[in-house]
Amino acid sequence: MPPPGPNNRTATKWTIRLIPFFLAGAFGFSIYVTVAHLCIDYLYRQKRQRATAVAPIVLYFIFFVLTFASYLRTFLAASRNPALVPFNDRRRAAEEHRKTLPKRAREDVEAQHEWLPADQDPDSPGLEAFYTKDVFVCEPDGRPRWCTLCWHWKPDRAHHSTDLGRCVRKMDHLCPWFTFYCSLAIAVCIGTAGYCLALQQREGMSVDGRIVAMLALGGLFGFFTIGMTMTSLKYVFDNITNIDVLRKSQEFFLAVRVPLDSPPTQQYHTITYPLARPAGLTRGPNGQPLAPRDDLARRTFAVLRTDKGENPWDLGAWRNFKTVMGNNALEWLLPIRHSPCCNHDSPKGDYEFGPLIPELKRRYQLPELKDDDGSATSGNGIEMRERSHARR
Ligand SMILES: [Zn+2]
Repeated sequence: MPPPGPNNRTATKWTIRLIPFFLAGAFGFSIYVTVAHLCIDYLYRQKRQRATAVAPIVLYFIFFVLTFASYLRTFLAASRNPALVPFNDRRRAAEEHRKTLPKRAREDVEAQHEWLPADQDPDSPGLEAFYTKDVFVCEPDGRPRWCTLCWHWKPDRAHHSTDLGRCVRKMDHLCPWFTFYCSLAIAVCIGTAGYCLALQQREGMSVDGRIVAMLALGGLFGFFTIGMTMTSLKYVFDNITNIDVLRKSQEFFLAVRVPLDSPPTQQYHTITYPLARPAGLTRGPNGQPLAPRDDLARRTFAVLRTDKGENPWDLGAWRNFKTVMGNNALEWLLPIRHSPCCNHDSPKGDYEFGPLIPELKRRYQLPELKDDDGSATSGNGIEMRERSHARR
């Protein structure tokens, strides 16, 4: 993986700094033309069309406030809590040390980059977060994916952001609310400008340059914001991010839990966690005695490969929508809460898996996984167990 380019980072930083000024200019212009010039001066004072003048002002300010709130929320989420995967102690210490270096040396270190290959220690910290789930994304060898720059095992759907220099969970670049409310504010401007232009044409007045400018700019911005809103809604309904789109024909290796010590077959191989220690090894890398292991915590996984373009998290359009946008209309309209998919506590997986998992189990003819009470789980262990208890 190439190190993050300092020039790219600088360009991104400046883009982020300039966007608020750009937006302030665009909204300033639209307020001047739509609210002050057309609604107040022309429709209200000149034409005496009071209701027609007030309605666009009210709508415009509602959408303006919602656009601003969405932008502020996106900005705060991106700067304060962009779902970074936490550093482990070792990586955090290296980062603290790097920060103490003079700027030039710091950039040199960045250029060489603190690149670290995957940890081969069978007791590598963080592995347990994966094998305590029923399914997780892995490499072909059955270990989770490793970030060579963050020095940790990458959670499912996490990607390394070169701008942040960190792994980010379900990294995406679009905010559906911002572009949606921005489109509505633009629609009010275009509607008002179009109405006033038609009135003036009917009265035989000369063409107002400010209306033409508003229509041209509104059309241009509207084209982008509506396009971006449609794109982000498509991502929401498909349960993908724009990183997934860039890797259109990606295929996943998934570690899917099977009965303990299930043998490999010709179709798949298996891996059992905690990983086997080399024979005769009694001490860790620092000479410390190895911690005893709990045999009850052992779990075996079959390593399965999806076909190209298959999405293991596709729950169907409606459930995809709800897992990102929330469970009720208020959450769909206002960016007030985190998406339900931000909760990673389920023992089934970091993100809810869709029908592809049972389909893969059939395709690879995996042995049925039994719970402690002997009932089949079929990858939905908790759900099936709850149902079987409810029957009693
Ligand atoms: Zn990373």
